[in-house]
Amino acid sequence: MKKIDLSNFRVADSATARDINRRIILNLVRKHQPISRAELARRSGLQRSTVSSIIDELIGEKWITEGAYGQVPRGRKPTLLYLNVDRVGAIGVNIQPNKTNIGLGTLDTHFIVLESFNTVNYPEKLNPIVTNRVVEIIKSHPEISYEGIGISVPGRIDVRTGKLVFAPNLGWKNVDLKTPLEKATGLPVELENAANACALAELWSGQHPEEVRNLIAVTVSEGIGVGMVLNGQLVRGTTGMSGEFGHFTMLEDGPLCNCGNRGCWETLASNSACVRFYTQTRPTVPTAKLPTTPTFEDILRLAQQGDPKANHAIEKMAHYLGLGISMLVVGFAPDLLVIVGTITRAWSKVEPIIQNMVAKHCRTGAKTRIVATDPATNPRLRGTIAMVLQKHFSAPQIV
Ligand SMILES: [Zn+2]
Repeated sequence: MKKIDLSNFRVADSATARDINRRIILNLVRKHQPISRAELARRSGLQRSTVSSIIDELIGEKWITEGAYGQVPRGRKPTLLYLNVDRVGAIGVNIQPNKTNIGLGTLDTHFIVLESFNTVNYPEKLNPIVTNRVVEIIKSHPEISYEGIGISVPGRIDVRTGKLVFAPNLGWKNVDLKTPLEKATGLPVELENAANACALAELWSGQHPEEVRNLIAVTVSEGIGVGMVLNGQLVRGTTGMSGEFGHFTMLEDGPLCNCGNRGCWETLASNSACVRFYTQTRPTVPTAKLPTTPTFEDILRLAQQGDPKANHAIEKMAHYLGLGISMLVVGFAPDLLVIVGTITRAWSKVEPIIQNMVAKHCRTGAKTRIVATDPATNPRLRGTIAMVLQKHFSAPQIV
């Protein structure tokens, strides 16, 4: 049950019914395309005239296009309808402490443009760089009908102001990334926590069974983010701070975290934690082949080459990753938990450790499928596109 919010509601009128029907039709086209108007009327139970009127509107707005003729035993052949996958798109910006990625993605989450550059760690300097790139991309692809711009950040956004309010790994507070980009492009800009965006991407374009309505995304990079879709709905909380399990105390008096607390989950199970585990156990005199300050990628590569200390560091990270994931499985019993991050490149090594931890600590009988996303599919950037486009397909927020 969803409680009606008496401080913020909108009563239903004829436009509400049309809005709901439009979303149902869009979803039916997406799932069953190519599809005729008659088939849409049959599947939705709506009057044929209502379907035609909604379709005319969707064609006018470029969401849907007409294609080949369908086959029928007799009479006029129906025109088949498709989602206009390569004409409707969004710009996605994914900001991480080291790299910023920008992409132009279409309705089928195919990327026409993909760019990346080093993140300038001052928002007032990064804003104009991002804005210039986005404006250039939009100019170079005038054939696209742009629905908006999605920005994913390693932090939490105040849902009331749209400002980035908590991003310890960037060191930013109360940053406005939205207004400059909106002013420069005239497009609506939405910000979302990276893990929330990844959870939306999995719901929108992940190859999962239809019945998955409870899904958790865990992003593992410099920190750890958790995005939750429960009962088919993204959970943000009143202020947008829900899901900060990365800053849950896993070890009292543990290592100091960027948030100021000690022993947070991310101080034990993030890429930065793995680097620390490695440097703490490496020889005091660096050998020629080891960089003085190794990156997480260096450790992954060394582990692949059979370096025992690198392997030990990754196993320790996987152990704590499994411990935190056990907490999520016990607490939420999601149908699916997806892990996003470079660590998934070592999935054959990491997965059994995580599965063992979950089997050991989860005695509730929760049957959660734990899977890794493929880094090559740009899951964070897919999330930015999903956050802009999926809302046209989702149940409307009315009450
Ligand atoms: Zn913390």
